[in-house]
Amino acid sequence: MNAQVNITHNLRRKVASQVVNIGPDGPESGVAGESRGECARSVAPPSYQNAARPALCAWCVRPATRKHGSAWFCARHYRFQQMRATAKRHGKSVPSYETLEMLAQCLECVGCGRAMHWLIADGPRARQVTLQHDRSGAIRFLCLGCNTSHSVHPGDEFYNIPPDHKRCPRCGDVKACASFFTDRTRGRRGQAPLRSLCKECGRVSNNEHRANNRARFNARQQEWRARRKAS
Ligand SMILES: [Zn+2]
Ligand SMILES: [Zn+2]
Ligand SMILES: [Zn+2]
Repeated sequence: MNAQVNITHNLRRKVASQVVNIGPDGPESGVAGESRGECARSVAPPSYQNAARPALCAWCVRPATRKHGSAWFCARHYRFQQMRATAKRHGKSVPSYETLEMLAQCLECVGCGRAMHWLIADGPRARQVTLQHDRSGAIRFLCLGCNTSHSVHPGDEFYNIPPDHKRCPRCGDVKACASFFTDRTRGRRGQAPLRSLCKECGRVSNNEHRANNRARFNARQQEWRARRKAS
């Protein structure tokens, strides 16, 4: 497998260097993406915007679908660059392309077990592949839904929660789904949509809200009584 990674790596370097030298608009397009860095977008010549899409990704033999800088890439390699850029921007560890290729061998989310896809255009946004930085320091791929869910759990507790359980953000307890009221406006791990708070916390929260807005509740109740009397 290492040999395979090396071949891919060398091929990528070779092809990437070709793209810099012979871009779609000649040598100039390569220079625009390489040396001007952040200013590339503002100073790029108009022809740069209309560059024809090549048939294949600059790094592999898959069809090119997205443009990054001056080159076109397949969905996978386009996302690799996005993931690395996002990790760098957020001050997190930036995985090598070899690491990403290894992670990409399995596109089944370890959080929810569902298939993930590379681009938002390929399916539901929540099932897009994202790069997950665990608090233990490990790196893996998770679907966007599970990535978001992981972020609201302390540590890496997210992975220990059984599929028919959920953590209440108010009391912090992990409870069975039966301890939560259903909420049709929500969805979670492809199961019955549940309210955020557990039944007990929901009750306390409702009572608090009512106590804090007593005047409004009383006014509404009086209005309702008057309407009922009139009819
Ligand atoms: Zn590719
Ligand atoms: Zn998932
Ligand atoms: Zn609770």
